[in-house]
Amino acid sequence: MTMRSTQLENSLLNSLPKKESSFIWRESSDVSPLVMPGQTIGVLGGGQLGRMIILEGRRLGYRFVVLDPAIDSPAGQVADEQIVGAYDSPVAMARLMEKSDLVVYEFENIDPDMVRMIETIKPLPQGSNLLRWTRHRGQERKVLQDAQIPTAPYQVVTSKTELLEAIEELQLPCVLKVLTGGYDGKGQWVLRTSGDPFPPVDIIEKGILVEKFIPYVKEISVIVARGISGEVEVYPPVMNIHRDQILHMTISPAPIKEGIRTRAEQIAYHLASQLRFVGVLAIEMFVLADGTILVNELAPRPHNSGHITMDTTTPCQFEQFVRAVTGLPLRKSIRKNTGIMVNLLGEHQEAFFEQLAKLPSCAKVHWYGKSVAKEGRKMGHINFVRDSLQDLLELINELPIWKPLSQQEWEAIFAIANNQMEGRRLHD
Ligand code: ADP
Ligand code: MG
Repeated sequence: MTMRSTQLENSLLNSLPKKESSFIWRESSDVSPLVMPGQTIGVLGGGQLGRMIILEGRRLGYRFVVLDPAIDSPAGQVADEQIVGAYDSPVAMARLMEKSDLVVYEFENIDPDMVRMIETIKPLPQGSNLLRWTRHRGQERKVLQDAQIPTAPYQVVTSKTELLEAIEELQLPCVLKVLTGGYDGKGQWVLRTSGDPFPPVDIIEKGILVEKFIPYVKEISVIVARGISGEVEVYPPVMNIHRDQILHMTISPAPIKEGIRTRAEQIAYHLASQLRFVGVLAIEMFVLADGTILVNELAPRPHNSGHITMDTTTPCQFEQFVRAVTGLPLRKSIRKNTGIMVNLLGEHQEAFFEQLAKLPSCAKVHWYGKSVAKEGRKMGHINFVRDSLQDLLELINELPIWKPLSQQEWEAIFAIANNQMEGRRLHD
């Protein structure tokens, strides 16, 4: 059930104690924290990202209250308190705000109008703009275009005729994506030939982003944090391997040539400065054979591909997020090790439990506490940390938890890598 935001706003405003908002937007170098240790941060969303934000934030002394519709959520388990309620419930929202000195969101499925309304009552440093832009693939593309960031050629269509025209212009193969609500490859269609099935008409009419299929050689991503005073901290690019469009593995640092690394970091810095958000932004990119970088997608929050920073980099993306939103100065990110993150999905749970006691000490386990394991559901991840990428890949490949890397995946890892890696193949 979606409630109109004005209705919701009125009921919320009426149910809250009357108090002036203490939040003042600041963009100066003289910044003091918005909240101090001992004060409470309210988290919209109870998933694993919230859980890891809270674990870091508690170390810094903050208290946390989580709002999530499900009891015993991953974030709720590690928070001081969880409010069980829908995100569009005025009563639940009023309770969250009453208990919070500052509010954050940990996922995109929050109505930006709701966020805007909360902002008028409590500090919500992330703001609603980045959320609004990144929830809608069409708007996201417009923002990227305005910032002069290259993407795959695309068109937005709302009818079958427009779709056919777009395909005619872009030429197959194309990727079709729903404008809102898609994730982990859900709501996507790859059209390779004219005989491939189209999305149902009612889905097309809600709006589809049609884009050229990009024969990239590598997928990389960059995490960038921006603080309240406008300072920006960019993490080194990592390489991502997806299986069935769900992130399988992240390699840090990305095995790419120096020039590509520098360009990816420049894009991240430029975007963060243009978008003027507060918090953490993840930028997914495609690297083409000639070294061209195209931006594919943005996420307005800590990201699965940033989980590797928990064991390779200080501060990790979650501490940096907490620092950004509470008004603490960002810290320079310092990478200590090479690392590989591998996701544990529902289908890996059984084999993971069997291996748990036998894992080597370089395997750092992060388990999210979800009670039901479903296929494709992210249950946890393992960060493997060592000095050598080659050793890590061999070690992971021998573990009977995941399918070993395919020839194509090996090739992607070593494609257009650093000079000393070029041409090296583990299977040769
Ligand atoms: P989401 O992560 O929200 O499901 P993405 O746009 O990131 O949506 O797409 C998921 C994955 O599908 C990407 O990581 C990439 O592997 C693949 N993909 C998406 N768009 C394209 C494209 N234009 N060309 C080739 N592969 C694509
Ligand atoms: Mg993506």
